[in-house]
Amino acid sequence: MTSYQPATSFRAADPPLMARIGDWLRRHQRAIRWTQWAVILVYATLLIAPTLVSLPGRAAHIWDNVTLFAQFVFWGIWWPGVLISMLLFGRLWCGVLCPEGSLSELASRHGRGGAIPRWVRWPGWPFTAFILTTVYGQMVSVYQYPKPALLILGGSTVAAIAIGYLYGRDRRVWCRYLCPVTGVFGLLAKLAPMHFRVDRNAWDSCPPKLGRTATVTCAPMLPLHNMDSASACHMCGRCAGYRDAIELTARAPGSEVVEVSGRSANGWESALIIVGLMGIAIGAFHWASSPWFVIAKQWAATWLVTHDMIWPLSTSLPWWLLTNYAANNDVLNLLDGALLLAYIAATAAAMSLALGLPLAAAARVLGPWNWQRFHHLAQALLPLAACGVILGLSAQTVTLLRADGFDLGWIGAARVTALAFASAWSLYLGWRIAGKYAGNAARLAATGAVALAAAAPVLAWSLLFWIW
Ligand code: SF4
Repeated sequence: MTSYQPATSFRAADPPLMARIGDWLRRHQRAIRWTQWAVILVYATLLIAPTLVSLPGRAAHIWDNVTLFAQFVFWGIWWPGVLISMLLFGRLWCGVLCPEGSLSELASRHGRGGAIPRWVRWPGWPFTAFILTTVYGQMVSVYQYPKPALLILGGSTVAAIAIGYLYGRDRRVWCRYLCPVTGVFGLLAKLAPMHFRVDRNAWDSCPPKLGRTATVTCAPMLPLHNMDSASACHMCGRCAGYRDAIELTARAPGSEVVEVSGRSANGWESALIIVGLMGIAIGAFHWASSPWFVIAKQWAATWLVTHDMIWPLSTSLPWWLLTNYAANNDVLNLLDGALLLAYIAATAAAMSLALGLPLAAAARVLGPWNWQRFHHLAQALLPLAACGVILGLSAQTVTLLRADGFDLGWIGAARVTALAFASAWSLYLGWRIAGKYAGNAARLAATGAVALAAAAPVLAWSLLFWIW
């Protein structure tokens, strides 16, 4: 792992605070590695310890039961916290704290260093891996039980180490191409108010004595000279000050979505926003509370019984395929499993239409049909997509805290505020993006269509939090 070590610098003697923070990160790589080991230790403990004890009884609390404590920390604090950190600091979590990324990079340092195969570079992995893990997580109740958590998170860590061992040298091949949340993190980081900015003039005119011949190990393999997005940057700081041209810089939140996504947004990112974050993920958070799910289940069960087909109601599967905890009175039969998949798929289809059609109308009123414009407009919905998954994950925090007697009377107001803020931000981004393509009436009409698209996830979250 190589960080840039400047010999001297012609930058301002007193650089802005943000640039100094970037330089601090570069100078403290050893401390960062020790921090990573500490996170790995906590991560392994929280994953493994709950699988070694029996499941908690009804009288157990977060503070006296290791399983509930780990559940609370993982799904209640850790994951929502990581998502919020993406919005605040970009992918600092990935570069500085993520245990999977650190282990994968370590394995890569001592591994075979093979060339990265084409199948690994397939751009559809971030979308596909997110969908598969989200759906599988629901099938095995990953939020509720320790063994599925170990299987999914631990399995992902083992895969990250194996990919690191096989491909690349000192690199994070897993994080760049295959991590199930790399696509989501990359999208959320576009909204962050900071990034490592490259001054191309300074880069090109950098004299050799300032280190233009030095190298930097950028673990996610970014082309530093052309970097104009925070999406794939892990904010590790190793390139801070490189050629006197790269520094951590503040920017307007969401400015990348307006200024850069017109060139960089693509179909896989739109699919992840529309089908993944606002379709599959909403279905996954919805189904267990949905009265429609109950109605469908009653109808299907009645139909099966009247047709003498009892086996879908009486057959269960091993816990690693479908939730099966008889001692806790929590067993999904085949019908439950099939309906769960159907419910999530139907939600994804309905949300894709409810979001895709208004976005297509917005793209069309701004000019002749153009997919790139559609993808650009889809990114206006990123604040709402981020808010949704954070609220969905924090619902687990709320459930656990309420079960332990905490009074969270303020949570409804907090949710309304978060949704209102995210909606306003999405509309603002839609307005700014539309302004890139047209003025006046067309811009207003396109923003109205974006508002129509934004209404769909707001309605979906309102159903979950206030109507059902
Ligand atoms: S561009 Fe690469 S080296 Fe620079 S901060 Fe981002 S991940 Fe680190």
